[in-house]
Amino acid sequence: MNDILLGSHISLAAPDYYAAAVKEAHSWGENVFMFYTGAPQNTKRIPLDKMRIEEGRALIRDYGMDEKNIVVHAPYIINLANTKNEATREIARSFLVEELRRTAAFGLRYLVLHPGSAVDASREEAIAMVAEGLNEVLKEDGTDVIVCLETMAGKGNELGRTFEELKAIRDLVERKERIGVCLDTCHIHDAGYDIKDIDGVLSEFDSVLGLDLLKVIHLNDSKNERGAHKDRHANIGYGAIGFDALLAYVNHPRLAGIPKILETPYIDHEFPPYEEEIAQLRNGKFVGLSEIK
Ligand code: FE
Ligand code: FE
Ligand code: ZN
Repeated sequence: MNDILLGSHISLAAPDYYAAAVKEAHSWGENVFMFYTGAPQNTKRIPLDKMRIEEGRALIRDYGMDEKNIVVHAPYIINLANTKNEATREIARSFLVEELRRTAAFGLRYLVLHPGSAVDASREEAIAMVAEGLNEVLKEDGTDVIVCLETMAGKGNELGRTFEELKAIRDLVERKERIGVCLDTCHIHDAGYDIKDIDGVLSEFDSVLGLDLLKVIHLNDSKNERGAHKDRHANIGYGAIGFDALLAYVNHPRLAGIPKILETPYIDHEFPPYEEEIAQLRNGKFVGLSEIK
């Protein structure tokens, strides 16, 4: 395996949870991966002592993976900007505290978070509310896990559709050392950035946020044209971004050392594409997926 950090989203499933996830990632040629601690769309979580964490961590060492680059994704229903409902906002905050503690319990340092969505409020107010929520959460959780705010496609009232919006959130957070960024290639393309101009994207990111804040890359093709604000991921080489443009993110020297994580769709909802996609990206050559005829 070369030193390019390439992996995918992996699900944690009964009965072996983390141990099985690490094995699965390794079997697909991955040296990094990302997981949700339960279902992405809800906050039901099984107790940590059932998750086979120590076994998983031992396997990570055996396989020569580095925990620095393994990432947790918070469920996407967390919305610190829900201005309509203080109770919902409080649930989001307390869940996020627990999720940061869970991330630390796995021995990991990055938690990816969708910044949130403006509900019945201006974007400016919503941004302030996200930052306020983060300030409370980061005071309370007692970990040093870094919250990586994800760049979003700008579907509906989603926050984080520009680098400037992520900066605006971070500017209002007190513990800035606990804020990083996750760049999703599908999302920034859908948000309107010219993803194929990688040097342009990186220099813009650098001038707005600073490239040192970039901790995680989500590597996805997109089913839609640039600026569509849709957020529908396509398999690598099967979308509007294309294999070569995505390969440039895998190999760019300024992005060396940053984990690149695929969140591409299962083929026919059944066959995980990751082993083949990763092999093609490592080889630098697109051959397509065997299940797609
Ligand atoms: Fe995400
Ligand atoms: Fe993503
Ligand atoms: Zn997405």
